[in-house]
Amino acid sequence: MMKSDISVLNTLQNVSEENALEEKETIIEAIVNSSDDGIISKTLDGMITSWNPAAERMFGYTEKEVIGKHISIIIPPDRMNEENFIIGHIRAGQKIDHFETVRIAKDGTEKNVGLSVSPIKAKNGQVTGISKILRNISFKKEIEVKQAILAAIVDSSDDAIISKTVDGIITSWNQSATNMFGFSEEEVIGKHISIIIPPERFEEETGIIENIRKGNKVDHFETERVTKDGTKKNISVTVSPIKDHKGIIIGASKTARDISSKKEAEKQQELYTERLKELNQHKDEFMVMASHELKTPVTVILANLQILKLLLEGDTHSAFVDKTLKQMLKLSNLIGNLFEVSKIQAGKLILNISTFDANLLVKEVAANMQQTTLTHRILYTSNPGIAVSADHYKIEQVIVNLVSNAIKYMTEPGDINVKIEKTEDNLLFRVSDNGVGIPEKDIENIFQRFYRVSGSASSFAGSGVGLYISSEIIKAHGGKLWAESEIGKGSTFYFSIPCA
Ligand code: ADP
Repeated sequence: MMKSDISVLNTLQNVSEENALEEKETIIEAIVNSSDDGIISKTLDGMITSWNPAAERMFGYTEKEVIGKHISIIIPPDRMNEENFIIGHIRAGQKIDHFETVRIAKDGTEKNVGLSVSPIKAKNGQVTGISKILRNISFKKEIEVKQAILAAIVDSSDDAIISKTVDGIITSWNQSATNMFGFSEEEVIGKHISIIIPPERFEEETGIIENIRKGNKVDHFETERVTKDGTKKNISVTVSPIKDHKGIIIGASKTARDISSKKEAEKQQELYTERLKELNQHKDEFMVMASHELKTPVTVILANLQILKLLLEGDTHSAFVDKTLKQMLKLSNLIGNLFEVSKIQAGKLILNISTFDANLLVKEVAANMQQTTLTHRILYTSNPGIAVSADHYKIEQVIVNLVSNAIKYMTEPGDINVKIEKTEDNLLFRVSDNGVGIPEKDIENIFQRFYRVSGSASSFAGSGVGLYISSEIIKAHGGKLWAESEIGKGSTFYFSIPCA
Protein backbone atom coordinates (compact mmCIF):
# COMPACT_ATOMS: atom_id res chain seq x y z
CA MET A 1 0.00 0.00 0.00
CA MET A 2 1.24 3.47 -0.77
CA LYS A 3 1.94 6.01 2.00
CA SER A 4 -0.76 8.37 0.68
CA ASP A 5 -3.31 5.49 0.83
CA ILE A 6 -2.47 4.89 4.51
CA SER A 7 -2.99 8.54 5.44
CA VAL A 8 -6.38 8.51 3.66
CA LEU A 9 -7.36 5.42 5.61
CA ASN A 10 -6.25 7.05 8.91
CA THR A 11 -8.29 10.14 8.15
CA LEU A 12 -11.35 7.99 7.34
CA GLN A 13 -10.92 6.07 10.62
CA ASN A 14 -10.67 9.30 12.65
CA VAL A 15 -13.83 10.64 11.01
CA SER A 16 -15.81 7.47 11.79
CA GLU A 17 -14.56 7.48 15.46
CA GLU A 18 -15.65 11.11 15.82
CA ASN A 19 -19.02 10.24 14.33
CA ALA A 20 -19.49 7.34 16.77
CA LEU A 21 -18.56 9.58 19.72
CA GLU A 22 -20.98 12.27 18.56
CA GLU A 23 -23.74 9.67 18.19
CA LYS A 24 -23.03 8.34 21.68
CA GLU A 25 -23.15 11.83 23.16
CA THR A 26 -26.47 12.50 21.42
CA ILE A 27 -27.92 9.28 22.87
CA ILE A 28 -26.71 10.12 26.40
CA GLU A 29 -28.12 13.63 26.10
CA ALA A 30 -31.49 12.22 25.00
CA ILE A 31 -31.51 9.81 27.96
CA VAL A 32 -30.61 12.57 30.44
CA ASN A 33 -33.24 14.90 29.01
CA SER A 34 -36.01 12.32 29.01
CA SER A 35 -35.22 10.86 32.47
CA ASP A 36 -37.81 11.14 35.26
CA ASP A 37 -34.96 11.44 37.74
CA GLY A 38 -33.22 14.72 38.30
CA ILE A 39 -29.67 14.46 36.87
CA ILE A 40 -27.23 17.13 37.95
CA SER A 41 -23.50 17.47 37.60
CA LYS A 42 -21.26 19.77 39.56
CA THR A 43 -17.63 20.53 40.14
CA LEU A 44 -15.80 19.27 43.22
CA ASP A 45 -16.44 22.72 44.70
CA GLY A 46 -20.13 22.24 44.32
CA MET A 47 -20.70 24.50 41.32
CA ILE A 48 -23.54 23.22 39.15
CA THR A 49 -22.41 22.36 35.63
CA SER A 50 -25.48 20.61 34.22
CA TRP A 51 -29.16 20.42 35.16
CA ASN A 52 -31.68 18.22 33.28
CA PRO A 53 -35.43 18.95 32.68
CA ALA A 54 -36.48 16.51 35.47
CA ALA A 55 -34.34 18.53 37.95
CA GLU A 56 -36.11 21.62 36.69
CA ARG A 57 -39.51 20.01 37.31
CA MET A 58 -38.44 18.77 40.72
CA PHE A 59 -36.95 21.99 42.08
CA GLY A 60 -38.53 24.71 39.94
CA TYR A 61 -35.19 26.25 38.84
CA THR A 62 -34.42 26.44 35.09
CA GLU A 63 -31.03 25.29 33.81
CA LYS A 64 -30.13 28.90 33.12
CA GLU A 65 -30.87 29.93 36.69
CA VAL A 66 -28.64 27.35 38.29
CA ILE A 67 -25.68 26.75 36.01
CA GLY A 68 -22.61 28.22 37.75
CA LYS A 69 -24.49 28.48 41.08
CA HIS A 70 -23.53 26.53 44.18
CA ILE A 71 -25.47 23.31 44.86
CA SER A 72 -26.33 24.68 48.36
CA ILE A 73 -29.32 26.50 46.79
CA ILE A 74 -31.21 23.20 47.00
CA ILE A 75 -29.72 21.97 50.30
CA PRO A 76 -31.50 22.78 53.60
CA PRO A 77 -29.06 24.62 55.95
CA ASP A 78 -29.29 21.88 58.57
CA ARG A 79 -28.14 19.33 55.99
CA MET A 80 -25.07 21.14 54.69
CA ASN A 81 -22.76 18.72 56.51
CA GLU A 82 -24.29 15.92 54.40
CA GLU A 83 -22.76 17.59 51.33
CA ASN A 84 -19.26 17.52 52.92
CA PHE A 85 -19.74 13.83 53.63
CA ILE A 86 -20.73 13.21 49.99
CA ILE A 87 -17.81 15.25 48.59
CA GLY A 88 -15.45 13.34 50.88
CA HIS A 89 -16.62 10.02 49.42
CA ILE A 90 -16.43 11.29 45.86
CA ARG A 91 -12.88 12.66 46.23
CA ALA A 92 -11.94 9.18 47.37
CA GLY A 93 -13.43 7.91 44.10
CA GLN A 94 -16.37 6.23 45.87
CA LYS A 95 -19.95 6.11 44.75
CA ILE A 96 -22.97 6.76 47.02
CA ASP A 97 -26.08 4.78 46.35
CA HIS A 98 -29.73 5.53 47.32
CA PHE A 99 -29.00 8.02 50.03
CA GLU A 100 -32.37 9.27 51.35
CA THR A 101 -32.46 12.94 52.24
CA VAL A 102 -34.38 16.19 51.84
CA ARG A 103 -33.77 18.98 49.34
CA ILE A 104 -35.48 22.33 48.93
CA ALA A 105 -37.27 23.54 45.80
CA LYS A 106 -37.31 27.13 44.56
CA ASP A 107 -40.70 27.75 46.26
CA GLY A 108 -39.30 26.55 49.60
CA THR A 109 -41.10 23.21 49.70
CA GLU A 110 -39.15 20.26 51.00
CA LYS A 111 -38.68 17.29 48.70
CA ASN A 112 -37.86 13.80 49.89
CA VAL A 113 -35.26 12.50 47.49
CA GLY A 114 -33.17 9.39 47.03
CA LEU A 115 -29.63 10.34 45.88
CA SER A 116 -27.13 8.31 43.86
CA VAL A 117 -23.85 10.20 43.54
CA SER A 118 -20.89 9.17 41.32
CA PRO A 119 -17.52 10.75 40.60
CA ILE A 120 -16.87 12.07 37.07
CA LYS A 121 -13.43 10.97 36.07
CA ALA A 122 -11.09 12.31 33.35
CA LYS A 123 -9.37 9.88 30.98
CA ASN A 124 -6.43 9.72 33.34
CA GLY A 125 -8.71 8.59 36.19
CA GLN A 126 -8.63 11.88 38.06
CA VAL A 127 -11.92 12.93 39.65
CA THR A 128 -12.98 16.16 38.03
CA GLY A 129 -16.59 16.47 39.03
CA ILE A 130 -19.68 14.87 40.50
CA SER A 131 -22.85 13.51 38.88
CA LYS A 132 -25.96 13.26 40.97
CA ILE A 133 -29.20 11.40 40.26
CA LEU A 134 -32.13 12.50 42.42
CA ARG A 135 -35.32 10.47 42.64
CA ASN A 136 -38.48 11.98 44.10
CA ILE A 137 -39.44 9.66 46.98
CA SER A 138 -42.12 11.87 48.59
CA PHE A 139 -44.79 9.36 47.58
CA LYS A 140 -42.77 6.53 49.14
CA LYS A 141 -42.33 8.64 52.29
CA GLU A 142 -46.08 9.29 52.46
CA ILE A 143 -46.72 5.56 52.29
CA GLU A 144 -44.14 4.98 55.01
CA VAL A 145 -45.79 7.60 57.23
CA LYS A 146 -49.22 6.07 56.60
CA GLN A 147 -47.85 2.64 57.41
CA ALA A 148 -46.29 3.93 60.61
CA ILE A 149 -49.62 5.51 61.64
CA LEU A 150 -51.48 2.28 60.89
CA ALA A 151 -48.92 0.27 62.82
CA ALA A 152 -49.32 2.62 65.79
CA ILE A 153 -53.11 2.28 65.62
CA VAL A 154 -52.87 -1.51 65.49
CA ASP A 155 -50.42 -1.51 68.40
CA SER A 156 -52.51 0.74 70.60
CA SER A 157 -55.89 -0.84 69.77
CA ASP A 158 -57.85 -2.42 72.61
CA ASP A 159 -59.07 -5.04 70.16
CA ALA A 160 -56.94 -7.98 69.22
CA ILE A 161 -55.88 -7.52 65.58
CA ILE A 162 -54.56 -10.59 63.85
CA SER A 163 -53.79 -11.28 60.22
CA LYS A 164 -53.50 -14.67 58.63
CA THR A 165 -53.07 -16.24 55.23
CA VAL A 166 -56.05 -17.77 53.46
CA ASP A 167 -54.81 -21.11 54.81
CA GLY A 168 -55.11 -19.79 58.34
CA ILE A 169 -51.41 -19.23 59.08
CA ILE A 170 -50.93 -16.31 61.45
CA THR A 171 -48.88 -13.50 59.91
CA SER A 172 -49.33 -10.70 62.45
CA TRP A 173 -50.46 -10.43 66.06
CA ASN A 174 -50.77 -7.16 68.01
CA GLN A 175 -50.23 -6.43 71.72
CA SER A 176 -53.95 -6.73 72.53
CA ALA A 177 -54.00 -10.19 70.95
CA THR A 178 -51.24 -11.13 73.38
CA ASN A 179 -53.19 -9.62 76.29
CA MET A 180 -56.38 -11.38 75.22
CA PHE A 181 -55.08 -14.84 74.36
CA GLY A 182 -51.86 -15.07 76.40
CA PHE A 183 -49.62 -16.05 73.43
CA SER A 184 -46.75 -13.72 72.52
CA GLU A 185 -46.25 -12.65 68.90
CA GLU A 186 -43.19 -14.93 68.55
CA GLU A 187 -45.19 -17.90 69.79
CA VAL A 188 -47.90 -17.64 67.18
CA ILE A 189 -46.41 -16.19 63.98
CA GLY A 190 -46.34 -18.99 61.43
CA LYS A 191 -48.73 -21.15 63.50
CA HIS A 192 -52.24 -22.07 62.42
CA ILE A 193 -55.09 -19.90 63.77
CA SER A 194 -56.70 -23.06 65.23
CA ILE A 195 -54.32 -22.55 68.15
CA ILE A 196 -57.01 -20.22 69.60
CA ILE A 197 -60.11 -22.02 68.27
CA PRO A 198 -61.90 -24.56 70.48
CA PRO A 199 -62.08 -27.90 68.56
CA GLU A 200 -65.89 -27.87 68.52
CA ARG A 201 -65.72 -24.59 66.57
CA PHE A 202 -63.25 -25.64 63.84
CA GLU A 203 -66.16 -25.87 61.39
CA GLU A 204 -66.93 -22.23 62.04
CA GLU A 205 -63.44 -21.23 60.88
CA THR A 206 -63.95 -23.19 57.65
CA GLY A 207 -67.09 -21.14 57.04
CA ILE A 208 -65.28 -17.87 57.76
CA ILE A 209 -62.41 -18.78 55.40
CA GLU A 210 -64.92 -19.71 52.66
CA ASN A 211 -66.47 -16.26 52.99
CA ILE A 212 -63.07 -14.57 52.92
CA ARG A 213 -62.07 -16.47 49.77
CA LYS A 214 -65.23 -15.09 48.15
CA GLY A 215 -64.11 -11.58 49.18
CA ASN A 216 -66.87 -11.18 51.81
CA LYS A 217 -66.49 -9.56 55.19
CA VAL A 218 -67.71 -11.31 58.35
CA ASP A 219 -69.11 -8.66 60.70
CA HIS A 220 -69.46 -8.82 64.49
CA PHE A 221 -69.65 -12.56 64.65
CA GLU A 222 -70.10 -13.64 68.28
CA THR A 223 -68.19 -16.78 69.15
CA GLU A 224 -65.76 -18.36 71.60
CA ARG A 225 -62.00 -18.59 71.46
CA VAL A 226 -59.56 -20.29 73.77
CA THR A 227 -56.55 -18.69 75.49
CA LYS A 228 -53.09 -20.17 76.07
CA ASP A 229 -54.12 -21.42 79.52
CA GLY A 230 -57.21 -23.12 78.09
CA THR A 231 -59.89 -20.72 79.33
CA LYS A 232 -62.66 -19.85 76.91
CA LYS A 233 -63.45 -16.27 76.01
CA ASN A 234 -66.58 -14.83 74.47
CA ILE A 235 -65.50 -12.62 71.62
CA SER A 236 -67.00 -10.71 68.76
CA VAL A 237 -64.94 -11.01 65.58
CA THR A 238 -64.90 -9.05 62.37
CA VAL A 239 -62.93 -10.67 59.58
CA SER A 240 -62.03 -8.87 56.34
CA PRO A 241 -60.17 -10.10 53.28
CA ILE A 242 -56.68 -8.68 52.63
CA LYS A 243 -56.05 -8.04 48.93
CA ASP A 244 -52.76 -7.40 47.13
CA HIS A 245 -52.33 -4.50 44.69
CA LYS A 246 -53.87 -6.62 41.93
CA GLY A 247 -56.97 -7.27 44.05
CA ILE A 248 -56.11 -10.90 44.70
CA ILE A 249 -57.12 -12.13 48.17
CA ILE A 250 -53.94 -13.07 50.00
CA GLY A 251 -55.20 -13.35 53.55
CA ALA A 252 -57.59 -12.08 56.19
CA SER A 253 -57.43 -9.57 59.00
CA LYS A 254 -59.33 -10.38 62.14
CA THR A 255 -60.43 -7.96 64.83
CA ALA A 256 -61.51 -9.66 68.03
CA ARG A 257 -63.25 -7.89 70.91
CA ASP A 258 -63.60 -9.47 74.32
CA ILE A 259 -67.33 -9.56 75.09
CA SER A 260 -67.15 -11.84 78.14
CA SER A 261 -68.40 -9.09 80.44
CA LYS A 262 -71.17 -8.18 77.98
CA LYS A 263 -72.24 -11.84 77.86
CA GLU A 264 -72.16 -12.02 81.66
CA ALA A 265 -74.29 -8.86 81.86
CA GLU A 266 -76.74 -10.34 79.33
CA LYS A 267 -77.03 -13.49 81.41
CA GLN A 268 -77.66 -11.43 84.55
CA GLN A 269 -80.23 -9.35 82.70
CA GLU A 270 -82.04 -12.49 81.56
CA LEU A 271 -82.13 -13.72 85.16
CA TYR A 272 -83.46 -10.39 86.41
CA THR A 273 -86.07 -10.26 83.64
CA GLU A 274 -87.20 -13.76 84.51
CA ARG A 275 -87.37 -12.87 88.20
CA LEU A 276 -89.21 -9.65 87.40
CA LYS A 277 -91.75 -11.56 85.33
CA GLU A 278 -92.31 -13.95 88.24
CA LEU A 279 -92.77 -11.10 90.72
CA ASN A 280 -95.07 -9.32 88.31
CA GLN A 281 -97.17 -12.44 88.00
CA HIS A 282 -97.41 -12.67 91.80
CA LYS A 283 -98.43 -9.01 91.89
CA ASP A 284 -101.12 -9.58 89.23
CA GLU A 285 -102.47 -12.58 91.08
CA PHE A 286 -102.53 -10.56 94.30
CA MET A 287 -104.34 -7.69 92.55
CA VAL A 288 -107.02 -10.04 91.21
CA MET A 289 -107.48 -11.61 94.62
CA ALA A 290 -107.39 -8.31 96.59
CA SER A 291 -109.72 -6.37 94.30
CA HIS A 292 -112.09 -9.32 94.20
CA GLU A 293 -112.08 -9.63 97.99
CA LEU A 294 -112.61 -5.88 98.36
CA LYS A 295 -115.59 -5.88 96.02
CA THR A 296 -117.84 -7.92 98.34
CA PRO A 297 -117.59 -5.73 101.51
CA VAL A 298 -117.80 -2.53 99.42
CA THR A 299 -120.98 -3.80 97.70
CA VAL A 300 -122.51 -4.65 101.11
CA ILE A 301 -121.55 -1.24 102.55
CA LEU A 302 -123.02 0.49 99.48
CA ALA A 303 -126.29 -1.44 99.79
CA ASN A 304 -126.58 -0.57 103.49
CA LEU A 305 -125.78 3.07 102.82
CA GLN A 306 -128.56 3.17 100.20
CA ILE A 307 -131.00 1.78 102.79
CA LEU A 308 -129.75 4.28 105.39
CA LYS A 309 -130.20 7.11 102.90
CA LEU A 310 -133.84 6.08 102.41
CA LEU A 311 -134.40 5.72 106.14
CA LEU A 312 -132.89 9.13 106.91
CA GLU A 313 -134.70 11.01 104.18
CA GLY A 314 -135.54 14.48 105.49
CA ASP A 315 -133.35 13.98 108.56
CA THR A 316 -130.73 16.66 109.30
CA HIS A 317 -128.05 13.95 109.42
CA SER A 318 -128.81 12.59 105.97
CA ALA A 319 -126.03 14.84 104.52
CA PHE A 320 -123.43 12.63 106.24
CA VAL A 321 -124.87 9.56 104.60
CA ASP A 322 -124.90 11.31 101.19
CA LYS A 323 -121.24 12.25 101.50
CA THR A 324 -120.27 8.74 102.61
CA LEU A 325 -122.29 7.24 99.79
CA LYS A 326 -120.55 9.48 97.22
CA GLN A 327 -117.09 8.52 98.44
CA MET A 328 -118.08 4.84 98.64
CA LEU A 329 -119.23 5.00 95.02
CA LYS A 330 -115.81 6.39 94.02
CA LEU A 331 -114.09 3.65 96.01
CA SER A 332 -116.29 1.02 94.42
CA ASN A 333 -115.43 2.39 90.96
CA LEU A 334 -111.72 2.33 91.69
CA ILE A 335 -111.87 -1.23 92.99
CA GLY A 336 -113.94 -2.25 89.97
CA ASN A 337 -111.29 -0.75 87.64
CA LEU A 338 -108.42 -2.40 89.49
CA PHE A 339 -110.25 -5.70 89.28
CA GLU A 340 -110.70 -5.26 85.53
CA VAL A 341 -107.05 -4.29 84.99
CA SER A 342 -105.75 -7.21 87.02
CA LYS A 343 -108.02 -9.61 85.14
CA ILE A 344 -106.73 -8.29 81.81
CA GLN A 345 -103.13 -8.54 83.01
CA ALA A 346 -103.72 -12.11 84.10
CA GLY A 347 -105.18 -12.87 80.65
CA LYS A 348 -108.61 -13.46 82.12
CA LEU A 349 -110.71 -11.07 80.06
CA ILE A 350 -113.64 -13.32 79.16
CA LEU A 351 -116.37 -12.19 76.77
CA ASN A 352 -120.02 -13.21 77.01
CA ILE A 353 -121.09 -12.86 73.42
CA SER A 354 -124.72 -12.20 72.42
CA THR A 355 -126.28 -10.54 69.39
CA PHE A 356 -127.95 -7.20 70.08
CA ASP A 357 -129.06 -3.96 68.47
CA ALA A 358 -126.21 -1.43 68.75
CA ASN A 359 -128.61 1.49 68.22
CA LEU A 360 -130.65 0.55 71.29
CA LEU A 361 -127.59 0.20 73.46
CA VAL A 362 -126.06 3.55 72.47
CA LYS A 363 -129.41 5.32 72.78
CA GLU A 364 -129.89 3.96 76.29
CA VAL A 365 -126.34 4.87 77.40
CA ALA A 366 -126.67 8.39 75.95
CA ALA A 367 -129.94 8.89 77.82
CA ASN A 368 -128.48 7.57 81.09
CA MET A 369 -125.34 9.66 80.80
CA GLN A 370 -127.46 12.76 80.18
CA GLN A 371 -128.77 12.23 83.73
CA THR A 372 -125.26 12.76 85.11
CA THR A 373 -124.74 16.25 83.67
CA LEU A 374 -126.70 19.48 83.70
CA THR A 375 -124.12 21.49 81.76
CA HIS A 376 -123.56 19.31 78.68
CA ARG A 377 -125.96 18.09 76.00
CA ILE A 378 -125.47 14.58 74.75
CA LEU A 379 -126.72 14.46 71.18
CA TYR A 380 -127.34 11.09 69.67
CA THR A 381 -128.67 10.56 66.15
CA SER A 382 -130.51 7.25 66.07
CA ASN A 383 -129.32 4.77 63.43
CA PRO A 384 -131.37 1.56 63.71
CA GLY A 385 -130.66 -1.80 62.17
CA ILE A 386 -127.04 -2.39 63.15
CA ALA A 387 -126.76 -5.74 64.89
CA VAL A 388 -123.54 -6.78 66.58
CA SER A 389 -122.38 -9.99 68.21
CA ALA A 390 -120.45 -8.78 71.22
CA ASP A 391 -120.29 -8.69 75.00
CA HIS A 392 -123.21 -6.32 75.70
CA TYR A 393 -122.06 -5.40 79.19
CA LYS A 394 -118.47 -4.71 78.19
CA ILE A 395 -119.33 -2.67 75.08
CA GLU A 396 -121.67 -0.63 77.30
CA GLN A 397 -118.74 -0.16 79.70
CA VAL A 398 -116.60 1.20 76.84
CA ILE A 399 -119.29 3.63 75.65
CA VAL A 400 -119.93 4.84 79.23
CA ASN A 401 -116.22 5.41 79.69
CA LEU A 402 -115.79 7.36 76.43
CA VAL A 403 -118.88 9.54 77.02
CA SER A 404 -117.99 10.23 80.65
CA ASN A 405 -114.47 11.24 79.56
CA ALA A 406 -116.02 13.61 77.00
CA ILE A 407 -118.08 15.18 79.82
CA LYS A 408 -115.13 15.26 82.23
CA TYR A 409 -112.64 16.82 79.82
CA MET A 410 -115.08 19.47 78.54
CA THR A 411 -114.73 22.20 81.13
CA GLU A 412 -117.20 24.60 79.48
CA PRO A 413 -120.87 23.71 78.89
CA GLY A 414 -121.37 22.31 75.41
CA ASP A 415 -122.57 19.54 73.15
CA ILE A 416 -121.26 16.01 72.93
CA ASN A 417 -122.06 14.26 69.66
CA VAL A 418 -122.49 10.52 69.65
CA LYS A 419 -122.89 8.62 66.40
CA ILE A 420 -122.87 5.06 65.11
CA GLU A 421 -122.74 3.79 61.55
CA LYS A 422 -122.08 0.63 59.63
CA THR A 423 -118.89 0.71 57.58
CA GLU A 424 -118.40 -2.42 55.48
CA ASP A 425 -118.78 -5.21 58.04
CA ASN A 426 -118.05 -3.08 61.08
CA LEU A 427 -119.90 -1.01 63.59
CA LEU A 428 -118.18 2.37 63.80
CA PHE A 429 -118.84 4.32 67.00
CA ARG A 430 -117.69 7.90 67.59
CA VAL A 431 -118.03 10.46 70.35
CA SER A 432 -116.86 14.05 69.84
CA ASP A 433 -116.37 16.79 72.39
CA ASN A 434 -115.16 20.40 72.36
CA GLY A 435 -113.01 19.88 75.42
CA VAL A 436 -109.39 20.46 76.38
CA GLY A 437 -107.98 18.19 73.67
CA ILE A 438 -104.93 15.92 73.88
CA PRO A 439 -101.34 16.88 72.95
CA GLU A 440 -100.07 15.02 69.86
CA LYS A 441 -97.19 13.42 71.75
CA ASP A 442 -99.63 11.80 74.21
CA ILE A 443 -102.27 10.53 71.84
CA GLU A 444 -100.66 7.09 71.32
CA ASN A 445 -99.95 6.67 75.02
CA ILE A 446 -103.35 7.40 76.54
CA PHE A 447 -104.41 3.80 75.92
CA GLN A 448 -101.65 2.53 78.18
CA ARG A 449 -102.25 1.42 81.73
CA PHE A 450 -102.18 4.30 84.28
CA TYR A 451 -101.19 6.84 81.61
CA ARG A 452 -102.57 10.32 82.16
CA VAL A 453 -101.70 13.43 80.18
CA SER A 454 -99.51 15.56 82.43
CA GLY A 455 -101.63 18.26 83.99
CA SER A 456 -104.85 16.27 83.76
CA ALA A 457 -103.88 14.40 86.94
CA SER A 458 -104.08 17.56 88.99
CA SER A 459 -107.07 19.13 87.21
CA PHE A 460 -109.33 16.09 86.65
CA ALA A 461 -110.16 13.16 88.90
CA GLY A 462 -109.27 9.79 87.43
CA SER A 463 -106.92 6.83 87.56
CA GLY A 464 -105.68 6.50 83.96
CA VAL A 465 -107.10 3.02 83.41
CA GLY A 466 -110.44 3.70 81.67
CA LEU A 467 -109.02 3.91 78.14
CA TYR A 468 -106.70 0.95 78.78
CA ILE A 469 -109.62 -1.25 79.83
CA SER A 470 -111.74 0.03 76.92
CA SER A 471 -109.02 -0.61 74.38
CA GLU A 472 -108.40 -4.16 75.71
CA ILE A 473 -112.14 -4.88 75.53
CA ILE A 474 -112.32 -3.63 71.93
CA LYS A 475 -109.18 -5.61 71.01
CA ALA A 476 -110.72 -8.74 72.51
CA HIS A 477 -113.63 -8.20 70.11
CA GLY A 478 -111.22 -8.07 67.16
CA GLY A 479 -111.70 -4.33 66.76
CA LYS A 480 -109.75 -1.16 67.46
CA LEU A 481 -110.08 2.02 69.50
CA TRP A 482 -108.40 5.29 68.52
CA ALA A 483 -108.60 9.04 68.95
CA GLU A 484 -108.15 12.25 67.03
CA SER A 485 -107.66 15.46 68.90
CA GLU A 486 -106.58 19.06 68.73
CA ILE A 487 -105.43 20.82 71.81
CA GLY A 488 -107.95 23.43 72.97
CA LYS A 489 -110.48 22.37 70.31
CA GLY A 490 -111.63 18.95 71.39
CA SER A 491 -111.33 15.23 70.80
CA THR A 492 -113.11 12.47 68.92
CA PHE A 493 -112.81 8.89 70.10
CA TYR A 494 -113.68 6.04 67.73
CA PHE A 495 -114.04 2.33 68.00
CA SER A 496 -114.94 -0.21 65.42
CA ILE A 497 -115.93 -3.84 65.99
CA PRO A 498 -117.18 -6.46 63.54
CA CYS A 499 -120.95 -6.54 63.01
CA ALA A 500 -123.02 -9.69 63.56
P1 ADP B 1 -108.62 8.98 83.39
O1 ADP B 1 -109.64 9.78 82.67
O2 ADP B 1 -109.13 8.25 84.57
O3 ADP B 1 -107.37 9.76 83.67
P2 ADP B 1 -108.47 7.40 80.97
O4 ADP B 1 -107.73 6.14 80.73
O5 ADP B 1 -109.93 7.38 80.72
O6 ADP B 1 -108.12 7.82 82.44
O7 ADP B 1 -107.82 8.50 80.08
C1 ADP B 1 -106.42 8.63 80.03
C2 ADP B 1 -106.02 10.08 79.76
O8 ADP B 1 -106.46 10.45 78.44
C3 ADP B 1 -106.68 11.06 80.65
O9 ADP B 1 -105.93 11.24 81.84
C4 ADP B 1 -106.74 12.31 79.81
O10 ADP B 1 -105.54 13.01 79.95
C5 ADP B 1 -106.86 11.81 78.40
N1 ADP B 1 -108.27 11.85 77.89
C6 ADP B 1 -109.11 10.82 77.79
N2 ADP B 1 -110.28 11.22 77.22
C7 ADP B 1 -110.14 12.52 76.93
C8 ADP B 1 -110.96 13.51 76.31
N3 ADP B 1 -112.21 13.22 75.87
N4 ADP B 1 -110.46 14.76 76.18
C9 ADP B 1 -109.23 15.06 76.60
N5 ADP B 1 -108.38 14.18 77.20
C10 ADP B 1 -108.84 12.93 77.35
